[in-house]
Amino acid sequence: MNAISLFVIIIVNIFLTSCSPNGKIPPKAIKGVLDLRDWDFEKNGVINLDGEWEFYWKELPVGDELALPEDKKNYINVPSSWNGQIIKRTTSGGEPFEEILGSEGYATYRLRVLLKDEIDLGLRVPDEATSYELYVNGEILKKYGVVAPSRENSIPGRSIEYIHINKANHELEVVIPISNFHIDQSGLLRSVILGGIDSIYKLRTTNLSRELFISGILFIMGMYHFALFFLRREDNSPLFFGIYCTIVFFRTLIKGELYLNTLFPTLSFANSFKIENLTIYPGLPIFFEFVKILFPLEMNKYIRIILNFLCLIISITVLLFPPLYFTKILTFFHLIILFSIIFVIYTLIKAIKQKREGASTFLFGIILYALTAINDLLYSRIIINTGFYAPVGLVAFIFAQSYLLSSRFSKAFSDTKEAMRMAEEQRQLVETAKEEIERLGRTKDEFLANLSHEIKTPLVSIYGYSELITMEEDLPESIKEYGSEIYSSAGRLNSYMDDVLLVTDLETNLQIDKKPTLLSTLIKNPIYQLESLMKEREIVLHISDISNFKVLCDGVLIERALNNILKNAIVYNKTKGTVKVEVIQTNDKLEINISDTGIGILPEYSDKIFDKFFRIDSSLSYEVSGVGLGLFLAKKILELHGGSISVRSELGQGSEFVIEI
Ligand code: ADP
Repeated sequence: MNAISLFVIIIVNIFLTSCSPNGKIPPKAIKGVLDLRDWDFEKNGVINLDGEWEFYWKELPVGDELALPEDKKNYINVPSSWNGQIIKRTTSGGEPFEEILGSEGYATYRLRVLLKDEIDLGLRVPDEATSYELYVNGEILKKYGVVAPSRENSIPGRSIEYIHINKANHELEVVIPISNFHIDQSGLLRSVILGGIDSIYKLRTTNLSRELFISGILFIMGMYHFALFFLRREDNSPLFFGIYCTIVFFRTLIKGELYLNTLFPTLSFANSFKIENLTIYPGLPIFFEFVKILFPLEMNKYIRIILNFLCLIISITVLLFPPLYFTKILTFFHLIILFSIIFVIYTLIKAIKQKREGASTFLFGIILYALTAINDLLYSRIIINTGFYAPVGLVAFIFAQSYLLSSRFSKAFSDTKEAMRMAEEQRQLVETAKEEIERLGRTKDEFLANLSHEIKTPLVSIYGYSELITMEEDLPESIKEYGSEIYSSAGRLNSYMDDVLLVTDLETNLQIDKKPTLLSTLIKNPIYQLESLMKEREIVLHISDISNFKVLCDGVLIERALNNILKNAIVYNKTKGTVKVEVIQTNDKLEINISDTGIGILPEYSDKIFDKFFRIDSSLSYEVSGVGLGLFLAKKILELHGGSISVRSELGQGSEFVIEI
């Protein structure tokens, strides 16, 4: 059994608890007499005193006998409003005529009930309109409000009364004088219920517990949706739904057993009536807003605006005018409710057609709610005699809603799980690709190292023989020039090969041999090697006093690193530029700054230039030969010594390489 069917069973049970448990068709009063001699209160339960009651228009009972004029007797169907009923009357001259009754006035109802046994009985008298007195066998048992023939003297009241009748005779004479000058429906609007005293009080307990149970659900659901909204502000729908639940929560308390009136006995008739109506009309726009957020494309904007406007007008009318006035246009109010129900159902059917998520569950809930709301409409218009059930319908709707919400959550949860699984798959793919790239990188490095090795042997021969050619005096000048060209190219190629081989050595964790060495010695060799280049480019070199500084290092490698940096400072410098070497001692570290007045480096490349094979794509880079290994090697060497290298530079403003060792 799924959650929905379980819920439907609970709701049906709640409905049934309020129905008469007997299987016997209850008799109706005929011509002012209700024959209950066949009715067993213990077996058949309580009974509504419905049917034809005697009705005395503009007559109140006189004296202890509660005398009523026989010639003024009419019959009226109970429950109903006397408003609009046609009664027979006679003029003072004895002429009979028919009168259509209006809502304002007073009258007396009388019913004789024939009983089988003399037992203790109870009566349940709902909020009849609008003030009444209740006499049973000549004894006054209840007064509600003040019954009077004029508006000035009559005081309306609202309550549900449970009345004890001590050891009833075989016959009960029930006399109820009523006056109404305050709403548009008058008289015995709701069934008076007769039953065994225990059954009548049980009815009260059942009704109250059902209403409090439902209002508890509505209250908690309201709070729950508020909490949902405060936790996830980007979705407004729980906020509107929470407000709507809270409004209907109040409605549950003010309808049915009129629990709010019991809690606040001083609540006036007019205010209680106004609050009751204000739990419908301001609630509708809030409900529309909720549906609109869920199905924005399906809800017709113009109809919604018109209905919202009408609800606003009705709410203001209810607030400003006394119940007598606004109850006169109750039919119009009820049409708005009916139209609103049709409008929401129409919107949902459109949403289902568009295959919107959750629309059919929503419609299922709404239909349950709509049925109970229509029941309430018909009940309040005294067309059917069931009771108020819209809050029960709303609870059904809320459960459908919660089911929707939970299925959305669980879907989101499984979506997240699926997304996590896919992310894990992607991560593994990336991991495999990374390993493959690293493997290919290693293969490439090995290949380069092998190639360099193989090239180096013939290259040394080319290098040596080309030098011999340049030195051979007997050879023609042109051959010597070619020889010198081959010599310098082979030299460059040789140094690239050395760089490639050193990269492989450094990456396979070359063992370094550290010795304390004078910095001046370390810098002397590179300067000597670069002297001709400096001359060629007319570069001026400034070196600060470095004679006292000693470094614990592998001299060959550090010389190589300094050579690469100094060479760059010369080749990427302008002709007649300057190169400065400055050294600062900080604690146990030396900071060597090598600055130039050359082309400079864009800030976005300040890290990349230390990458393997990276060369800045500029016209000058094309002129300067190189493979992008110089700075990479310098950085690797310094890192092997626990040092570092960084650059400060701006385009066109020269560069300053800062070495820490
Ligand atoms: P190579 O000089 O062989 O191209 P390097 O690793 O030594 O490779 O340098 C990488 C890149 O950094 C060079 O191509 C160059 O564009 C830039 N660069 C290095 N030193 C300087 C400098 N002192 N001034 C301007 N640009 C430089």
